[in-house]
Amino acid sequence: MTAYLVRNVSVVGAAPTDLLIRDGVVVETGAGLAAPDATVLDATGLVALPGLVDLHTHLREPGREDAETVESGSRAAALGGYTAVCAMANTSPVADTAGVVEQVWRLGREAGLVDVQPIGAVTVGLAGERLAELGAMADSAARVRIFSDDGHCVADPKLMRRALEYVKAFDGVIAQHAEEPRLTEGAQMHEGEVSTRLGLTGWPAVAEEAIIARDVLLAEHVGSRLHICHVSTAGSVEVLRHAKARGVKVTAEVTPHHLLLTDEKAASYDPVYKVNPPLRTAADVAALRAALAEGVIDIVATDHAPHAVEDKECEWAYARPGMLGLETALSIALDVLGPQWDLIAERMSRAPARIAGLDSHGLDPAPGVPANLTLVDPAARRVVEPAELASRSRNTPYARMTLPGRIVATFLRGEPTVLDGKAVK
Ligand SMILES: [Zn+2]
Repeated sequence: MTAYLVRNVSVVGAAPTDLLIRDGVVVETGAGLAAPDATVLDATGLVALPGLVDLHTHLREPGREDAETVESGSRAAALGGYTAVCAMANTSPVADTAGVVEQVWRLGREAGLVDVQPIGAVTVGLAGERLAELGAMADSAARVRIFSDDGHCVADPKLMRRALEYVKAFDGVIAQHAEEPRLTEGAQMHEGEVSTRLGLTGWPAVAEEAIIARDVLLAEHVGSRLHICHVSTAGSVEVLRHAKARGVKVTAEVTPHHLLLTDEKAASYDPVYKVNPPLRTAADVAALRAALAEGVIDIVATDHAPHAVEDKECEWAYARPGMLGLETALSIALDVLGPQWDLIAERMSRAPARIAGLDSHGLDPAPGVPANLTLVDPAARRVVEPAELASRSRNTPYARMTLPGRIVATFLRGEPTVLDGKAVK
């Protein structure tokens, strides 16, 4: 089997040390390790993080392989420093049966670049009318534990209650796309001063906050785990703070783009900035950053949403919502949080692995730990060139921006998926 000796690396920001990886496991750490059979990597100046874990990825397969495949999305993830991604259920067909989730899970294993953990739909066809086969998906080879109708809100409170009750038996979690649909009919962007100026129909913050408020109360009543996808408003943060203070089992994510970009971007009418939930105000961005630092928001999740050119490069009103995220997330986190490595490891690896129940991920590199890790060069700066991305799609909102940090290497179970910043396969 293979061995790698990573020399002079800072593990999660600590003083430099050596890491010896053998047969998929970190076997030894310390200064001046020797292993004549090992491939040596000089990691001077680099930081080792536990491999990143994305709780919210759209891989588009089956159904829209022109936008992304499990393989191309897995490669994008590895290049972004990820070792595991949770694949959202809004594929075609929808991942609402054991058969479809097993298909996605198998495709992930065949690609072998990250662990692909399928998310199952909450309702049949994402239609919000009756529960999907949650138990069959949980019992399948994919062992689904997260269920979400993402892209659609589970708006019916009775159905949401039943879903929360159902998944409690196997410690599952319902990940809610919080959007009261009656309040967002025809919405094109955040409802506020900019939408008034541009004459576009607004998506009010209360449409998100009302669903989160309802669902934390339902989760408390039932005693189940609830996760809130892509929190985007200051008001949502206050609802979550209140719920957590009451002991509700709720976790929440924020996307890189909601931590960086505001609704002023819509003034360009460039549909690359169209996303759901929409980009919000500078005050919301500030509240989300503070909540992430504080822990009211538990994790950063990308909501990586690849779209084919014809679905994105068109008039604003017709463009699909969504942005790429996997290959730039760590850089945005570094830009927003600075080199707070322990915080970045917690919000982008340890906590998402815990929420998803991925036991071999989210563990800091140490003797005996599975070698799922990534090496970051914090001093590097990169210009984002859409044509150079591994994703099949090009809808990055960061085109030609200069971002801090570069992923130098990623290891999945001791085997490199990325070396010298390039995908190994
Ligand atoms: Zn969503």
